[in-house]
Amino acid sequence: MASTLTFVFVFLLIATTATRIWLGSRHINYVQAHRGAVPTSFSGNITLESHQKAADYTSAKSKLALIEVAVQALLLAVLTIGGGLQWIDDAWFNVLPGHEIIRGALVICSALFISSLIDIPFEYYKTFSVDEKFGFNKMTPAMFFSDLLKHSLVGLVLGAPILFAALWLMQGAGEYWWFYLWVVWSVFNIVMLAVYPTFIAPLFNKFTPLADENLKSRIEALLTKCGFKSQGLFVMDGSARSSHGNAYFTGFGSSKRVVFFDTLLSRLNEQEIEAVLAHELGHFKHHHVIKRIAMLFFMSFVGLALLGWLMNQTWFYNGLGVTEISNYMALLLFLLVSPVFLFILRPFMASYSRKNEFEADDYAAKHADANHLVDALVKLYRDNASTLTPDPLHSAFYDSHPPASIRISKLAAYTH
Ligand SMILES: [Zn+2]
Repeated sequence: MASTLTFVFVFLLIATTATRIWLGSRHINYVQAHRGAVPTSFSGNITLESHQKAADYTSAKSKLALIEVAVQALLLAVLTIGGGLQWIDDAWFNVLPGHEIIRGALVICSALFISSLIDIPFEYYKTFSVDEKFGFNKMTPAMFFSDLLKHSLVGLVLGAPILFAALWLMQGAGEYWWFYLWVVWSVFNIVMLAVYPTFIAPLFNKFTPLADENLKSRIEALLTKCGFKSQGLFVMDGSARSSHGNAYFTGFGSSKRVVFFDTLLSRLNEQEIEAVLAHELGHFKHHHVIKRIAMLFFMSFVGLALLGWLMNQTWFYNGLGVTEISNYMALLLFLLVSPVFLFILRPFMASYSRKNEFEADDYAAKHADANHLVDALVKLYRDNASTLTPDPLHSAFYDSHPPASIRISKLAAYTH
């Protein structure tokens, strides 16, 4: 059984990595092949210069992502079948032979720390080389590292209690520990959703109430028309870090608020902002967020039930390069390895997400002006240097949003 698992895992790791590299290379080639001319439906709004900038920016980001995919796969192989996790476990055992829960937490944190350490140079290069070159970066290295430190501390403060709860339940809660953990995990996520906008997001950005009275009354009229109550309209200083623009809703229940990036407000006119907000309201009205959360809860239920069974199978450990069986190692292996097995779901999730985008666009077209949403999208594509010509297969596999041309031609149909 153990050798079968090793075989399946290695096969899937190679297959998914090869697929990702193949799709990424296709994407780069496709974008470069269409670099020479602006697609006709955009030729009035996007200059050849912006189009080529988008092509080069997309290629630069994609090339970096290809290297990262390969490095991450290699690291995962080293940690699992290469014996890395067992080595970390042995090292901590020498330091702390007793206290299994504390040692387990240390082993898990060490492994996750190593995995995230690998990502830092890539993130640094993307920010200070790629984004910098294309004029998007607003960060300084000092800010980069202070963000990193803040993110790690917040992750530790929020993650440690959940990790200890998991290890404690695994050890002492009997056969159905996974069900109790699922309840704890679900409650934790709901609490996080409620406190994130008010307590966590302000650690990274400044949020100020929207001051522009004209815009405010226009937006409030739209919210009332759509039957939406929010706890205020806020502007976020997205420009402190990057010049990419966006708008979103956060929180739920009484902590729900509308957040605009200052970079979005500075680029779009009032009608366009209204249309973008109508799209976001469409997501809300179609319960997309709630559905997504329900889906995550369902998946974590299935995942934890599976882990409840796997932790009792020695082949699960041995097949993935771990000789010493323990609760924490079952949890850690499951966290590290499951993405390889779930990769196949990626195109289905992406397709579901694109379906949601069409529904939100449909809502926006009915409650605001589809023409203004088209204008806003064209501006955002241009200013974010997003490619108008993604490789169709790459897009179908990964993209949470439909390609610009398809989205805009659907919206244009509403106006005739
Ligand atoms: Zn959307």
